[in-house]
Amino acid sequence: MGKPTGFKEFQRQTPNETDPRLRVLNWNEFHEHMSEKELRTQGARCMDCGVPFCHTGTLMAGMAAGCPVNNLIPEWNDLVYRGHWREALDRLHKTNNFPEFTGRVCPAPCEGSCVLGITNPPVTIKSIECSIIDHGFEHGWVQPNPPQSRTGKRVAVVGSGPAGLAAAAQLNSVGHDVTVFERADRIGGLLMYGIPNMKLEKHIVQRRVDLLATEGVKFRTGVEIGRDISAMDLREQFDAIVLSTGATRPRDLPIPGRQLKGIHMAMDFLSANTKSLLDSQHSDGQYISAKDKHVVVIGGGDTGNDCIGTSVRHGCKGVINLEIVPESPANRAPNNPWPQWPRIFRVDYGHAEVAAIFGEDPRLFSTTTVEFLGNEKGEVRALKIAKAEPAPPFKVIPGTEREIPADLVFLALGFLGPESTVAEQLGVKLDPRSNYDASHGQFTTNVPGVFAAGDCRRGQSLIVWAINEGRGAARECDKYLMGRSDLP
Ligand SMILES: Cc1cc2nc3c(=O)[nH]c(=O)nc-3n(C[C@H](O)[C@H](O)[C@H](O)COP(=O)(O)OP(=O)(O)OC[C@H]3O[C@@H](n4cnc5c(N)ncnc54)[C@H](O)[C@@H]3O)c2cc1C
Ligand code: SF4
Repeated sequence: MGKPTGFKEFQRQTPNETDPRLRVLNWNEFHEHMSEKELRTQGARCMDCGVPFCHTGTLMAGMAAGCPVNNLIPEWNDLVYRGHWREALDRLHKTNNFPEFTGRVCPAPCEGSCVLGITNPPVTIKSIECSIIDHGFEHGWVQPNPPQSRTGKRVAVVGSGPAGLAAAAQLNSVGHDVTVFERADRIGGLLMYGIPNMKLEKHIVQRRVDLLATEGVKFRTGVEIGRDISAMDLREQFDAIVLSTGATRPRDLPIPGRQLKGIHMAMDFLSANTKSLLDSQHSDGQYISAKDKHVVVIGGGDTGNDCIGTSVRHGCKGVINLEIVPESPANRAPNNPWPQWPRIFRVDYGHAEVAAIFGEDPRLFSTTTVEFLGNEKGEVRALKIAKAEPAPPFKVIPGTEREIPADLVFLALGFLGPESTVAEQLGVKLDPRSNYDASHGQFTTNVPGVFAAGDCRRGQSLIVWAINEGRGAARECDKYLMGRSDLP
């Protein structure tokens, strides 16, 4: 339970971050590590609240309240407080295959529903999670653990993001022969080619992939199912299939001027940037450079923010970030009570970097784009923007139009579900939101032996939900193959 009086004695502390003006000079992670003593003190703040909500992972008002993989948070907080790091690691791995990812980039709905958070700053759960797994790797405690016997059943996992990797890890652990197919040249999905290096260094993703490979998971990169191998052939070659293809269709902005040069989908910018960084430290020039450009990012969220952080690191002249929604309040609104996810004003890393370098936060709230304006060469030169009404459909407020300069624009407006080829070839039904139709908990599509997990099933979401779904789909797939399953 931590120290009985810990929550009264100690203040919340989070890891220091490198000064924004220094960290934008490189692509390294910028959260510093807390000392072991500091972490134990933070663990001591966990107060044995009796009915913890931090690990519930339920949906409230459409958002996660508590940890979606049901991490045993009070248990490992206590173990860290007492210095039992190895036991804490064992507890953590019981529920989360990849705490080194969530410990770095999860938005931490657990902290939003921490009971201490009703009256005080919540326990520093996410940083403790990250430290437990980092500690485990540093001490050599995270070792390959291949299954003792094999079942002879073959499973294909299509897509290697966190959902596919979690499904592969679980299915391999009970002895199935798992092959992960990935069309990109590196494994990891958005862990590799979506989230930039400064948020999640790619050697950390590769370290886990290598561990899974040593445990027996087979990886085939550069293979697109539906094109290089037909989905029906895959079905014949394997006993079951887990689809974890992500939500890869970006939402566009079809307004006048959209055809102008210099307007890009956010993912084209982010994935090329990371690939070029990993391939050649950017010396191959195979990326969209924001150097000396006036950048406008349309859309917020993680994707918009990552475009901001990446543009700043390229050396852009300035960034404006357009958000159609109004600015959130500083504290919870009355209709957003604990333990719901707090919908409050947040300053993410990219916003902080722009503020430090250019003097102000890049966001313009309640702002919509009316038109892209071009020059005689067909390149974007400006955006006509306007104030928007505060609620959907966010109509333009007449008389508020104005121009802002732009020579590079990134569209970060969300995603519309998976591409359709694999579903068409297999005859998998889609739901009304054009995701693969399979209920949470069952993960079973209308085609026997074909399961779906992650963003391709639930829509654009979070890594922690992808892990939850990959684990759940693995359990259902194991039941389908063996008639029963011991997987959690
Ligand atoms: C820019 C960005 C930043 C984000 N930041 C965060 C964050 O900080 N924290 C957080 O929790 N979440 C974040 N997210 C969301 C998170 O990354 C996703 O919810 C998560 O990765 C979904 O996992 P997934 O396994 O379902 O799909 P993905 O990670 O999208 O992986 C799907 C994979 O399937 C492959 N694929 C698709 N079709 C085929 C095919 N036919 N054949 C072979 N391979 C195929 C794709 O190439 C891709 O690699 C971010 C998302 C984006 C876009
Ligand atoms: S995975 Fe996310 S929600 Fe769960 S304990 Fe870690 S930070 Fe919290």
